[in-house]
Amino acid sequence: MAALNGLLRAGAAVRRPTAAARRWISSLASSEADTRVAASLARQAMPGRRDPGSRNVQWVFLGCPGVGKGTYASRLSQLLGVPHIATGDLVREELASSGLLAQQLADTVNQGKLVSDEIIIDLLSKRLENGEAKGESGFILDGFPRTIRQAEILEGVTDIDLVVNLKLREDVLLAKCLGRRICSQCGKNFNVASINIKGENGRPGMFMAPLPPPAQCISKLFTRADDTEEVVKERLRIYHETSQPVEEFYRSRGKLLEFDLPGGIPESWPKLLQVLNLEDHDDKQSAAA
Ligand code: AMP
Repeated sequence: MAALNGLLRAGAAVRRPTAAARRWISSLASSEADTRVAASLARQAMPGRRDPGSRNVQWVFLGCPGVGKGTYASRLSQLLGVPHIATGDLVREELASSGLLAQQLADTVNQGKLVSDEIIIDLLSKRLENGEAKGESGFILDGFPRTIRQAEILEGVTDIDLVVNLKLREDVLLAKCLGRRICSQCGKNFNVASINIKGENGRPGMFMAPLPPPAQCISKLFTRADDTEEVVKERLRIYHETSQPVEEFYRSRGKLLEFDLPGGIPESWPKLLQVLNLEDHDDKQSAAA
């Protein structure tokens, strides 16, 4: 716990990229979009007029598809007063538009493949710029970085305080993706999967109750096009191949907090608050509501 407290406190220290670091970022940023996200992140990390000791958290959530990154990142974002930025949501917003990019993205996403670093960085850059204009500071990133190159770009421009790596067994991940339902009106995620796996051969069981939608959402539920069994398996394969090395990237920097989800939200949320040393946070009750 002491080590984690140290990590969390380290969030208070703001590092100004050196000229050499800036040159390195420019060399990494092979496109205009990379440069824009670099500039935007760097401004967030160096809020000139703010007391450096008071900057908001800059956290990342990693984990396989279906693990619950969105659920826990969004709860923590409410608790800590920072935006929850999910690159998957940015991609889906783009897909819902009728632009040229939407047509290009549809095939990639529906096959469970990763969007190119350039496109994802462009979408993230725009989101950060819009947030900045509204006075946002700090963030919890969900679904980014997903490649080593994305992680290097992020590291080149700002200090990430903490990376939370959520973990669940693979059979549960698949069931959770297949059970996911989204309300087209309020945008909230629900889950119809009822998971009750008995422990065997020394392996613990797992219970997760469904997360049912309220009555007003029931007629508006839809399933993500990439939440079919075939596509989820492909997304899991790509996670292990391309995104898992990002875990090691942060582990080797002493920033990775591994968190094995013990069950559904009622079991996992209090435990997560505990390991993050946030269980006494004033707003805990309202965020958990
Ligand atoms: P998610 O909602 O995080 O599962 O993301 C949905 C889809 O958006 C992914 O399967 C990818 O096609 C794309 N995507 C989201 N974030 C990234 C990223 N950081 N890099 C590349 N593709 C991404």
